[in-house]
Amino acid sequence: MQKILNFINGKFEESLSLKYLDNYNPARGEVYSLIPDSGAADVERAIIAAEKAFPRWSRFTAEQRAHYLRELGRGITAKLELFVQAESVDTGKPVSLSRSLDIPRSARNFEFFADSITQFHGETFRSNSHTTNVTDYSPLGVVACISPWNLPLYLLSWKIAPALAAGNTVVAKPSEITPMTAYLLCQVAEEIGLPKGVLNIVHGTGPEVGAPLVNHKNIKAISFTGSTATGKSIAESTAGQFKKISLEMGGKNPNIIFADCDFEKAVDTSVRSSFLNQGQICLCGSRIFVEQSIYEKFKTALVAKTKALRQGDPLSAETEQGAVVSKPHMQKVMSYIDLAKTEGGKILTGGKAVSGAGYFIEPTLIEGLKYDARTNQEEIFGPVATITPFTSEDEVIRMANSTRYGLSASVWTGDIDRAQRLSKQLDAGVVWINTWMFRDLRTPFGGVKDSGFGREGGMEALKFFSEVKNTCIQYEEKEND
Ligand code: NAD
Repeated sequence: MQKILNFINGKFEESLSLKYLDNYNPARGEVYSLIPDSGAADVERAIIAAEKAFPRWSRFTAEQRAHYLRELGRGITAKLELFVQAESVDTGKPVSLSRSLDIPRSARNFEFFADSITQFHGETFRSNSHTTNVTDYSPLGVVACISPWNLPLYLLSWKIAPALAAGNTVVAKPSEITPMTAYLLCQVAEEIGLPKGVLNIVHGTGPEVGAPLVNHKNIKAISFTGSTATGKSIAESTAGQFKKISLEMGGKNPNIIFADCDFEKAVDTSVRSSFLNQGQICLCGSRIFVEQSIYEKFKTALVAKTKALRQGDPLSAETEQGAVVSKPHMQKVMSYIDLAKTEGGKILTGGKAVSGAGYFIEPTLIEGLKYDARTNQEEIFGPVATITPFTSEDEVIRMANSTRYGLSASVWTGDIDRAQRLSKQLDAGVVWINTWMFRDLRTPFGGVKDSGFGREGGMEALKFFSEVKNTCIQYEEKEND
C-alpha cells in the first residue's frame, strides 16, 4: 500500500515513531494509503530545518522567490491530471470539480503570489519639510500553515504561497483526512529544486502535530483554516505567546432570493451554492431564504434541479455529486438530517444515505424549519440546505444575521439600491450580489463573528506574513534650506 511521507529539509521521511494512520478513499469506504502518524519530535525537526533555511531564503530578492513560486505553479499544472485524480480519490469529490476548480486554482495561487511579491513594497510619508517616515516590510521567520480537508491543495497553497513569497519559511500541516495532494506538492518542490527546508510538511493529527506546531515558541505566525472549535482552541492555547494569527473558520451562509431576481440564474446558482463539493465548501449557501411571492415556484424549480444532480463514482466525468469525506462526517451530516425532522422539518428531496460501501448522501433540501432551529444555526457542512420564505427585507436580514457565523452571503435581486442596503447590513466578510463564489484573488478574504479573525488574500496576506517597521528620519534643517 502506498505510504505518504513527511517532507522535512528537502527529504521524504517517515515519522520518528514509524507509525502510520489509515487514509480512506471515501467513495469506496476503504483504506488506500497510509500517512505518517507524526508527533512533536517530527514538528521540532521540521522547525529546525525551516529555521536553518530562513536566512538565505529571506535574503533572496522578490524576483528569486517569485521564480520558485512560478515553478511550483508550473509543476502542478504539468502534472494536472495526476493531482486531479489523486484529489478526487482522496476527498470523494467529482473529478470534474478538481479539474475545473481545485487544482488549476492551486497552481494559480502560486502564480498569483509570485506576481504579487514583485509589486509588494513599503511606503514613504513626508511628514513635514524635514521629517520622513519610511515603512518597510520584512519576513517574520518560520510560520505555520494549517489547512482542512475540503479543498486540500487549494487552501494549503493559499497559505504557503504568500508565506513563502514574503520571505518566510514554512512548516505546514495538511488535514490528516486528505493528505495526498500535499504529498504530491512536496514531490514538485523536490523536482523544481526548492531550497531545502524552505517548505516542510508534517503529516498527522491535530492534537499530535497541529497543537505542538502552533504552540512552538519559534513559530512566528499561524495561518489556520478549519472549524471554529479548532480555531478557538488555537486562539486560547496561543493567547499569551503574541504570535500573528489568522483564523478562517466555519460558516452558515444565507442565500437570499428576492422576487425581482433573474429567476433561472438564481435557481441554477442556488443548486451549485448548496451542493457543490457535496456542500462541503465553507462558502456554501446552506440557508436559502426566498421571498414569499415566488417561494412555491422557486422551491419547485430547485427541487427538480436538485433531483437531477448525477451522483456516483467521483472518477466518472459525468458525476456531479460525489461522496462526503469520511464515515464520521457522513454520520454527523445524517444526524443533522434526523435532527431537522425532529425540529419539524419536511424533507423535500434526498434525506438518505446511499447504501453501499462509500460515504454518499443524497443532496437534501428541507423546508418548514424555524430560522432559529439548530439545523438553521449550526454548521452541517454537507449536502443539506434549508429553504425558508420571507416577507420583508427587515425580516430576512434578521434571520440571515441570527447565527454565530458571518463568512459570506449571496443576494439575488434586480434592485441595486436594495443590494447595496443588504450588503451593508448583512454580517458577512464577503457579500455576493447576483453571483456566488466569484473570487478575485486581490480582494481581502475572511469572515466576521465566529467565522474569522484576520484577512487573507492579495496584499493582506503578504502583510500578514510580514513584520512592518517604520523608520522616522529627521533631517537637520540649515538656515538657508
Ligand atoms: P478542523 O478544525 O477539524 O481541522 C482543520 C485542521 O486543523 C486540520 O489539519 C486538523 O488536523 C488541524 N487541527 C485539529 N486540531 C488542532 C489543534 N488543536 N491545533 C492545531 N491544529 C489542529 O476542520 P476540518 O473538519 O478539517 O474542516 C472543516 C471546517 O473548515 C469547516 O468548519 C469549514 O467551514 C472550515 N473551513 C473554513 C474555510 C474558510 O475560509 N473560512 C475554508 C474551508 C473550510
